[in-house]
Amino acid sequence: MNGLTKAMLMSAGLCLAAMSTASAELDVAKLKAAIETSVEADYPKLDTLYKDIHAHPEVAFQEVKTAARLATEMRALGFEVTEKIGKTGLVAIYKNGEGPTILVRTELDALPMEEKTGLAYASHDKADWNGQETFVDHSCGHDIHMATWVGTAKTLVGLKDRWRGTLMFIAQPAEETVSGAKAMIADGLFTRFKKPDFGFALHDGPFAYGTLSYRVGVGSSNSDSLDLTFHGRGGHGAAPQRTIDPVMIAARFIVDVQSVISREKDPTEFGVFSIGAIHAGTAHNIIPDEVVLRGTIRTFKPEVRAKMLDGIERTAKAAAAMSGAPAPELVFTEGAKAVVNDVAVVETAAKVLKAAFGDKIRTSPPVTASEDFSEFIDAGVPSMFFNIGVYEPERVAAAFNGTGPQLPSNHSPQFAPVPKPTIETGVEAMTLAVLSAFDKYAK
Ligand SMILES: [Zn+2]
Ligand SMILES: [Zn+2]
Repeated sequence: MNGLTKAMLMSAGLCLAAMSTASAELDVAKLKAAIETSVEADYPKLDTLYKDIHAHPEVAFQEVKTAARLATEMRALGFEVTEKIGKTGLVAIYKNGEGPTILVRTELDALPMEEKTGLAYASHDKADWNGQETFVDHSCGHDIHMATWVGTAKTLVGLKDRWRGTLMFIAQPAEETVSGAKAMIADGLFTRFKKPDFGFALHDGPFAYGTLSYRVGVGSSNSDSLDLTFHGRGGHGAAPQRTIDPVMIAARFIVDVQSVISREKDPTEFGVFSIGAIHAGTAHNIIPDEVVLRGTIRTFKPEVRAKMLDGIERTAKAAAAMSGAPAPELVFTEGAKAVVNDVAVVETAAKVLKAAFGDKIRTSPPVTASEDFSEFIDAGVPSMFFNIGVYEPERVAAAFNGTGPQLPSNHSPQFAPVPKPTIETGVEAMTLAVLSAFDKYAK
């Protein structure tokens, strides 16, 4: 064991000198037991909170009742709460002496879709979504995150003799549209309030409750969207020689552009370009003037992203040039950046989480979805983003072995986490992760 490893293992002791001078694992085990007892006592309230939020979800930037509910909970715990940061976001601060400021984020928003779980606390609520009425469903599990966030705040306040510093609990709107984090930062999150020293967030997923996963480095993808318009010259479908056919150009582009991914990008690096919308024309016999395409580009690394955007633009221009058409219009819009976990924050927290959860915590490969927690990291908050499971381990095992049905994932109308073990594991893990950062900083 080298000196550094030894120091890190010792740091996993979490200021428990008063409790024990035994091994780090033993100290963490004791602390975990203390947290479990606290969470078990708090759970009935967290269950009510979870089911209320689940039954009454709100979509991006409309999370007014949800935010008010969380503000009440946090004020009752002694946090100083500021509302309407980034439209519907919350910042809740709890000062406990000299020490680092640690950010813990939850999302507030749900999805514009109908819940089909049949649960007693299922949502039947509706909302306006881009001018259309829609059902609303917490099918990404952000309600689990909110209950976990409140439970973690309660637990950390209860353990306030074990840490020194400031808790900065934030509730972010509009994660699903990857715009809420940007909105909070633009509204002065890190200027009206002190920029935190470390940050943590978690997300639930369709694996076994009681288990956790995390990544060192890149955890989710960069997301860019493309709005592309090919201009041609419309005319009669029976006389194409008098037209410049933008449908032909678009068809050529859609096929050729995949060679950017298969021939130009390093095949060992992740990169995807998918076209999700094509709009052109009105009738069988009219060649339209233009074709509009919309697509999404997902990558992990900035250099791969740059290569993909360049290749897509070059292919679009070439496809238009081949037909003698005017240059196309391309508008790339950056969505979320990749979430990149900080190596030191992860190492510190992972030591403690491994001591607490043993083989229930594992590392996992990055996911190709995107997540705007990256905005806080990009703004200079070294962070750790990790995942917790939501389903009965037996059902997960049966699905994996093919002896049981596949389990609904996030964004499915059937997504139905088992609340108690999921929220309890979330609170335990998040509390330990935050304590690990306070402890490391204190040393
Ligand atoms: Zn989602
Ligand atoms: Zn989500």
